Amino acid sequence: MTLAERARRVIPGGVNSGQRSIPGLTDLVIARTEGSRFWDTTGREFTDYHAAFGPPLLGHNDPDVAAAVSAARASIGLTGVAVTEGEVTLAEQLVELVPSMEKVLLTSTGSEATFHALRLARAATGRRLVVKFQGCYHGWHDSVSLNVISAPERVGRPDPTSAGILPEVLAATLVLRFNDVAAVRQAFADHGPDIAAVILEPVPHNVGALLPTDAFLRALREECTKAGSVLVFDEVITGFRHALGGYQSLAGVTPDLTTLGKAIANGAPVGAIGGRADLMDLFSSRPGGPVFFAGTYNGHPDVVAAALATVRKLREEPVHEHVFRLGDRVRAGLAELYRTLDVPAVVTGYGSVFVSYFMSGPQPRSYDDLLANDTALFVGYRRRLVDQGVFELPLNLKRSHLSYAHTDADVDRLLEATETAVRHTLA
Ligand code: PLP
Repeated sequence: MTLAERARRVIPGGVNSGQRSIPGLTDLVIARTEGSRFWDTTGREFTDYHAAFGPPLLGHNDPDVAAAVSAARASIGLTGVAVTEGEVTLAEQLVELVPSMEKVLLTSTGSEATFHALRLARAATGRRLVVKFQGCYHGWHDSVSLNVISAPERVGRPDPTSAGILPEVLAATLVLRFNDVAAVRQAFADHGPDIAAVILEPVPHNVGALLPTDAFLRALREECTKAGSVLVFDEVITGFRHALGGYQSLAGVTPDLTTLGKAIANGAPVGAIGGRADLMDLFSSRPGGPVFFAGTYNGHPDVVAAALATVRKLREEPVHEHVFRLGDRVRAGLAELYRTLDVPAVVTGYGSVFVSYFMSGPQPRSYDDLLANDTALFVGYRRRLVDQGVFELPLNLKRSHLSYAHTDADVDRLLEATETAVRHTLA
């Protein structure tokens, strides 16, 4: 029996996250990761652009991060009893780096961070409603488990991503179109006094990449301030990946709360929630704080050491310069390739993130625009990329990532393999 078959006997579906269930790749069992590569248990080597949905901005198993984690293991051990020096230093650095963060707390995942953000917003405002946007993903909890990648007929109405969610919980989330200023103004006109929070990925990368307009981000800030609602930027993907200060530091719009995760610890299990001190002080980590906040592994020494090493490297080495340059090369190379092949495509992304949508027309601005994407070609060419040892996730609308460990030679190979993959898919 293969390892994958053994896995399926004892693990539902054979994987530990629904997001790892990939049609056509159910026999993939990972043996090792390093830099821009991973290897499976049969010895196949892949150049990795999936990056496990985004954490390893420095590359897999970065030696500096690994050394920091080993050192923390040797000195502190495995569990925190009270606060450690590393937690203090990391919090100080996040507060210094991320414009919205006056205070910050660590969690073990991004989902926990967004969960706490919404509960905090409801507690602080005494209101019910949360506003989210079609195409944004904020984790697995009930208030936001709807309208991510929806079938065309489900857009514009509640589209839960899970069974088992109370209808009244779904009804307390309003779903709007991303970049739609008029829809935001209307929602506040209709429900303003009942809106506790607006949560968004400032760049919705869970459907590839939708770039926000300035007017949209500013309208959100304006309406939330006017109505006393809490604006939450979910920067679990964009935090550190696009800038040490998150996308907010590039956009010049400051939310009330920010959630981080993924790249801030380069692969160690992390989340963070930070923001206005008057809000953050409502958490029960402060004695008497009415909003319960706990987690056995919050601020785990491994994770804190990994995050500190990641910050250090991002500050001291030209990581962003490197991944932004490679990102520009990939996007320009792919656009040129599709032109040559006469395949209608929009190549987009930001910095280290890239995606090719197979459709014509301008830069997509909302999920509706992506309904024109040719799903068969999108998934089909990626399957053929995987066959060539180039791993872009063969699922519709998924983004791809570059890391500090990727090289120009990797990009050459990616472009070459993409040409072969697209040609074969179209043949
Ligand atoms: N928010 C965003 C924007 C994400 O992309 C994700 C995960 O992909 C989450 C939150 C949830 O993070 P986690 O998977 O660590 O719970």
